[in-house]
Amino acid sequence: MSDVAIAVDLGGTNIRAALVTVGGEIKHHRTVRTAVRGGVYAIVDQIVNLAESVFDEHGSRLTAGVGVVAPGPLEPKSGIVRFAPNLPGWENVPLARLIQDRLEIPVVLGNDGNCAALGESMFGAGRDVDNLIYLALGTGLGAGIIHHGSLIEGVAGVGGEVGHVSIDPNGSRCTCGAVGCMEAYIGGWAIARHGEMAVHSERSSLIQEIAGDDRITAEVVARAAEQGDGVARDIFARGALALAVGVGGLVNVFNPELIVIGGGLARAGDLIIEPFRSSLPNYTMLPIYEHVTIVQSALGHDTGIYGAAANVFYQRPDRTGHRELDG
Ligand SMILES: [Zn+2]
Repeated sequence: MSDVAIAVDLGGTNIRAALVTVGGEIKHHRTVRTAVRGGVYAIVDQIVNLAESVFDEHGSRLTAGVGVVAPGPLEPKSGIVRFAPNLPGWENVPLARLIQDRLEIPVVLGNDGNCAALGESMFGAGRDVDNLIYLALGTGLGAGIIHHGSLIEGVAGVGGEVGHVSIDPNGSRCTCGAVGCMEAYIGGWAIARHGEMAVHSERSSLIQEIAGDDRITAEVVARAAEQGDGVARDIFARGALALAVGVGGLVNVFNPELIVIGGGLARAGDLIIEPFRSSLPNYTMLPIYEHVTIVQSALGHDTGIYGAAANVFYQRPDRTGHRELDG
């Protein structure tokens, strides 16, 4: 079995591709602007062309497979993207099959949170541990759980949705339709929405001032909080508390050694990570909490590429023996 994978990170802005060795070396890296308006087939063309170009530079098509990390709710086992918020017109797209038919190489599709957890476990902060919870603080709350070296996927491969664990029976409605999810407090969209509500009810003039004529984003609320705005600080404090309550429950269930925090909002360390760290002991049992270390992601901007490659190495038949890549 080859010890290199082709990794593709499909985002709403860019598509990135690279060859990744099993030792974690990234080679032949390429990026193109996503042809969002071209529809499904234009984007499949882009992915196929990127992969072919990486093969050309590598000088061989021998690989463990092609891994694709894609946005939106997707079904890893059937390789179908159910829909993608950043890619208009994408509904039930059999992405893995479409790429595989063109490249004639096995393609595995994964969601960003689960792939990132595998990436941290194989190449990043979790290399020396078998039990970790990965959290991506971004527009939503992505996540993945590695338990005794195995990704928690569940029967349909869509498990590990930590962000949609409910922590409040009377809480806000989440984008997933459920009530009181952690993501509805700590996801970037939720922080932005709470910032908008604060402006509408005239509780924070600083958020409005920083946003100016632009949209209120989580980054705007973070800047207001950093400049001492009490309402903005409360929004982050509630988010960090929600995260501690929900993740505390998971820590009790899985007894991990490591919590790895990545995603764009992870930079707001003092606003989220420190209060999360100090609240977590209140929501875990001491003999379990004692084993946990909280660290920042070691993969940064390459998380998607590493995650896509890690998924290939993780899913290949010689490891699990049950995945049908040609199915
Ligand atoms: Zn939810």
